[in-house]
Amino acid sequence: MELASAAGSVHRRFHKPSAVQLCTLMNIKTGGCTEDCSYCAQSSRYSTGLKATKLSAVESVLEAARIAKEKGSNRFCMGAAWRDMRGRKSGIRNIVEMIKGVRALGMEACVTLGMLDKEQAKQLKEAGLTAYNHNLDTSREHYSNIITTRSYDERLQTLENVREAGIHVCSGGILGLGEVPETDHVALIHTLATLPGHPESFPVNKLVPIKGTPMFGQEPVKLEDIVRCIATARLVMPATIIRLAAGRVTMPESEQMLCFMAGANAIFTGEKMLTTDCNGWDEDKAMFSRWGLEPLQTDASQVATDFIPVHHDYSVLDDDRGSKADERLQAHG
Ligand code: SF4
Repeated sequence: MELASAAGSVHRRFHKPSAVQLCTLMNIKTGGCTEDCSYCAQSSRYSTGLKATKLSAVESVLEAARIAKEKGSNRFCMGAAWRDMRGRKSGIRNIVEMIKGVRALGMEACVTLGMLDKEQAKQLKEAGLTAYNHNLDTSREHYSNIITTRSYDERLQTLENVREAGIHVCSGGILGLGEVPETDHVALIHTLATLPGHPESFPVNKLVPIKGTPMFGQEPVKLEDIVRCIATARLVMPATIIRLAAGRVTMPESEQMLCFMAGANAIFTGEKMLTTDCNGWDEDKAMFSRWGLEPLQTDASQVATDFIPVHHDYSVLDDDRGSKADERLQAHG
């Protein structure tokens, strides 16, 4: 509780505490992925009953984005079940159109498409992409128990390519993969917090066990470990947007509130979250009104960027970024 309280104080200096960003994630290409991520319904190595599809048409994706905007989301994320972008020239062309269309709606655009090289990152930046999601998933130490088809360093290389292109980095983890929270959650956060710049976005996923995947039957991660993870991330990455992502649907409202108090300030809302269920807009709207929360309306990624350190820096509580954040929040009312 001390950790959550300290994180809550830092959170209140860097963010408007009642504001929680609404994001919607759409699967634009389902299943048939060659990777072996042992939690994933979309890997072609496991029998999960999921039917693989081709890349969605640009117009259907933009229609979904329009609906998400109307319902109150201000970030639209698009995910494709690919290992990487090699040999996907027409795919990239369509995705560029999707990004442009989402940005034209006035929404933040994020994509998650697997590993990315420098040239592809540049192309996505030119299309106006706000953020690229590429999770580290877990600690370096636990990683090889979860995925064997690409290395931790390859993941870090993608994050570097994204950062170099000037796109915001969205990278986080999945809790409940059989890791030891005391060491593996800390190691995951440490890796991200000691990159040349903090990720602007840190998604915290609670494993949704899928029948047919090796992770099915894992013991669920405990609430206290989720809250500790969020609070620790908030303390060491004070300006980052912390997203309560997959698995929120399994958390009672009281548990979600504890996460917001400890520093989480974004959720995924809509019909689906990739292949798993998601809390819907109406349900979230009602929850917001019960607790005095409001959708984050400002360009959150822009606010965050002002305070993201570009060098390793642990003096977050002593330097003047906190008071600059105070001024900024006052200016935003
Ligand atoms: S998590 Fe992504 S890369 Fe891994 S198997 Fe699923 S779709 Fe493929």
